[in-house]
Amino acid sequence: MTLPTTPRGWANRLSQIVRIIHETHGIDRFPIDVKSIALEYSKSVFPDEPITAVDGNAFDKFEGALIPCPKGSGEWGIFYNSSITSPGRINFTLGHELGHYLLHRHLSGDPIYCAKRDMWKWDSEYGKMEAEANQFASYLLMPLDDFREQTNGLSTVTVAFFDKLRIRYEVSLTAAILKWLEFTSKRAMIVVSRDGFIDWSWSSKPLIGSGVFFRARQQVTPLPDASLAAGKASALQPEQGVMLNSGIWAKDEDVFESVIFSEYHEMAVSLLVYPDSPPGRAQDLPSEYRDEDPFDTFDQFQRN
Ligand SMILES: [Zn+2]
Repeated sequence: MTLPTTPRGWANRLSQIVRIIHETHGIDRFPIDVKSIALEYSKSVFPDEPITAVDGNAFDKFEGALIPCPKGSGEWGIFYNSSITSPGRINFTLGHELGHYLLHRHLSGDPIYCAKRDMWKWDSEYGKMEAEANQFASYLLMPLDDFREQTNGLSTVTVAFFDKLRIRYEVSLTAAILKWLEFTSKRAMIVVSRDGFIDWSWSSKPLIGSGVFFRARQQVTPLPDASLAAGKASALQPEQGVMLNSGIWAKDEDVFESVIFSEYHEMAVSLLVYPDSPPGRAQDLPSEYRDEDPFDTFDQFQRN
């Protein structure tokens, strides 16, 4: 059988194997056990260069790594940072490193070390290999058929909902939300912040298409003062979300925000859901409405 060459091709191949094992032995399909797959699949398909070590490692600054055996035996090891305690982060990191093994181990033969930030890059303009490893891990751990079934007909979209999916698939919360943003028809955005400042964000295609986007800048971007993520808006259960008036996250739209504080420790993960139909474009407004922009601290979120 010819081997796949793309991240999604590889993920589908392994998903089929997992599904067959699940059906013949009645073992739960989820969460996907990356460690067993890495050890057993690599041994049977690549007997000369199997993965023989899947383990935690006391990395200083890396989240994970794919490392060839230093003795030149052809064996490989995939590792996660042993200071990580979240099972979802560990499993997603192992999936990411297995993706590097299947897709990239022959490119240089050198070890591949991955930073925490590399686990969030879905846009290949930031780094093709990291985006490919993330896409592989995402499709392996959260196959689209099951993920669509879980998210179909969702009326209120909150981080609390994705926190349940995080447990179902044993992935990180950000990975589950990014997966949904990849194909949803809703206008939505994830915003990850730390100490009151935005670290990174990612938008669904319909939101970008309606002219709302994040303009990357060198300078730091503070959270809107009245946002849930900033901790000042009142909500009994911030993970269940509240509707925030226009002028907070978006200039001329109410935005539904829900937030979870934690996961990557000091970080807040916000999910913003915008109304299905965008309002009229800013340039359609009379000029007197355009001149004064109260969003001097947050003009990165702009409307075309
Ligand atoms: Zn990587």
